[in-house]
Amino acid sequence: MGDSAIVAGGAGFLGSHLCERLLADGYEVVCVDNFGSGTYDNVAHLDSNDRFEVVETDLRESPDLPAVDEIYHLASRASPADFTEFPVRIALTNTEGTRFLLDHALEHDATMLFASTSEVYGDPKVHPQPESYTGNVNIRGPRGCYDESKRFGETLTVAYNDAYDLDVRTVRIFNTYGPRMRPDDGRVVPTFLSQALRGEDLTVYGDGSQTRTFCYVDDMIDGLRAVMRTDDMKGDVVNVGGENEISIRTLAERVLEICDTDSDVVYEPLPEDDPTRRRPDISKAQEMLDWEPVVGLETGLERTVEDVDRTL
Ligand code: NAD
Ligand code: UDP
Repeated sequence: MGDSAIVAGGAGFLGSHLCERLLADGYEVVCVDNFGSGTYDNVAHLDSNDRFEVVETDLRESPDLPAVDEIYHLASRASPADFTEFPVRIALTNTEGTRFLLDHALEHDATMLFASTSEVYGDPKVHPQPESYTGNVNIRGPRGCYDESKRFGETLTVAYNDAYDLDVRTVRIFNTYGPRMRPDDGRVVPTFLSQALRGEDLTVYGDGSQTRTFCYVDDMIDGLRAVMRTDDMKGDVVNVGGENEISIRTLAERVLEICDTDSDVVYEPLPEDDPTRRRPDISKAQEMLDWEPVVGLETGLERTVEDVDRTL
């Protein structure tokens, strides 16, 4: 493996942490972002480093990018709250944008990591979800622009690996949270934390019995780096995410305890196609990457709340 990387989506939540980690590991890093859901502020603290460069561009416009050793494709809005407003952009970023980066990797003999998602499993009928589960996605529903385009993005990675022997690895990321998520992002952790800090009631959708696991960002970045460094991952796919499944109602209770607030919980309608249960089977990551999450939910929420507090 070399020492230069493109991080597409590098000014976003996960991308900015990954840029930080790669710089700390001695890499030259090119952060490519259209500043749609990401912001320059997320990477401003890195910009004085002469091994760091920010390129403001959109992947869908096939920009000129430098030759690098590794490409991390994290570009894509990821909040369900954005799926209604930006369905075409999201669908094309995960398909045309992925094709563009795969071609770039091929041209320059780079290794590529594609950030897929637990959403490829849709509303799963198998629980927990192993990589072999083929999923239950509503391709025409409100989440289809994201879920199905990530599925096709994965198909493209398999095709490039099969047809051209490209070294491309796919990570199915499960719900991850931490500092630098936008308070108005719409995803549940920043939403609950910012509501609690503002003294507003926490909006639990449905009866709050739907479950997720939550992975702290540092653990996720460890996982992404492990995927890139593990030789056996060429052409393969792996789940990376938290292990402890909790209901959204319980998450709201934890947030209320941590924030010591007068806020209460209010119940709002459950969005269409909202998955009822989700938990990764991470045995493949444990075996192949020697990876598992180490930061507990309480510690992770405490670290995140300080950041949300600063940005409100
Ligand atoms: P984010 O919205 O903070 O980051 C995405 C970044 O991509 C943003 O900076 C955005 O401006 C940029 N971007 C989007 N479309 C682009 C385009 N066409 N050209 C250039 N830049 C573009 O979201 P995140 O949580 O950091 O997610 C990063 C990646 O991880 C995404 O691919 C997402 O699908 C995946 N993922 C994240 C989670 C999670 O829980 N955070 C879960 C599953 C998958
Ligand atoms: N959710 C909620 N209130 C909110 C935002 C989200 O109850 O203000 C729920 C949402 O319905 C889902 C879960 O929290 O069941 C996780 O939502 P998120 O958007 O973070 O990610 P998802 O797992 O749905 O992609």
